[in-house]
Amino acid sequence: MIRFGKSITTLLFAAATAVVVPQASHAADKFVTIGTGGVTGVYYAVGGAVCRLMNQSRSTTHIRCSTESTGGSVFNVNAIQTGDLDFGLAQSDVQYQAYNGTGNFDGKAFKGLRAVFAVHPEPFTVLARPDVGVSKFEDFKGKRFNVGNPGSGTRASMEELLKQMGWSLSDFSLAGELKADEQGTALCDNKIDGFFYGVGHPSAAIQSPTTACGAKLISLTGPAVDALVAAHPYYSKATIPGGMYAGTPDPTETYGVRATVVTSSETPDDVVYNLVKAVFENFDDFKKLHPAFANLDPKEMVKAGLSAPLHPGAVKYYKEKGWM
Ligand code: GLU
Repeated sequence: MIRFGKSITTLLFAAATAVVVPQASHAADKFVTIGTGGVTGVYYAVGGAVCRLMNQSRSTTHIRCSTESTGGSVFNVNAIQTGDLDFGLAQSDVQYQAYNGTGNFDGKAFKGLRAVFAVHPEPFTVLARPDVGVSKFEDFKGKRFNVGNPGSGTRASMEELLKQMGWSLSDFSLAGELKADEQGTALCDNKIDGFFYGVGHPSAAIQSPTTACGAKLISLTGPAVDALVAAHPYYSKATIPGGMYAGTPDPTETYGVRATVVTSSETPDDVVYNLVKAVFENFDDFKKLHPAFANLDPKEMVKAGLSAPLHPGAVKYYKEKGWM
């Protein structure tokens, strides 16, 4: 949904973002909105960083960028398809499944989905209360486990894992559907025994429960994970470094996906071109906006985890840079 010459929508949590709010509006201004995730995740920081850099050149591009906190990847892709969002963050598995009509998008391929670039890796992260006697994911059988809100990429990936394991939601005594921003508090309040979150690191959503109530990171390995990684190009093995979070001094072995920025084939080329240009011309600034961006490499970002075709506006810039 690109709106022309209208006043900017006041968005929930806008005060907490790094977005530069435009002071004066130009008659021909275009407004673009990026769908992110929960405010304690990393998608929200990606959206804020992209909009901040894009809005720096708004006097010449006449494009005004704002972010929206959403339920996550699946919500974002669906909202791009309906035209309610212009851009969104999406896990690489969700991008693949949406474009190809598999998994959560079985029979509902969104052929107008376009890749823009990949961002940080998102290892699937399992947290447990320290008092529940859990040392591996299988130990959550019969326990209270938060599987993620419908609309999140986290939930979509959790369902793939459970299917591969031959489990269903009823293998937990409680399968919680709390949003990413709520699960840390619920864990510390003893409402759930553990949760699963596909997120970049470090993340406030993981840091809070590890410091507030001694929550521990749990490894996620075994035959089901091996089979998923072998069968799907969008999964790879991942390690969360030891010492990144309080109480987990050793590395945590798991698997994961890549965060990606996606849009629709309907988004004008100049808008996508200006978005990628804003990010890559100011790449050192971009990397400083969240610690999870520290190891990003532009040449990798234009291909890793991307399965939908690249948007032509992005291709134009990447060719100018000699990256493709
Ligand atoms: N990967 C998560 C999801 O799509 C969101 C992570 C984040 O907000 O950083 O549900």
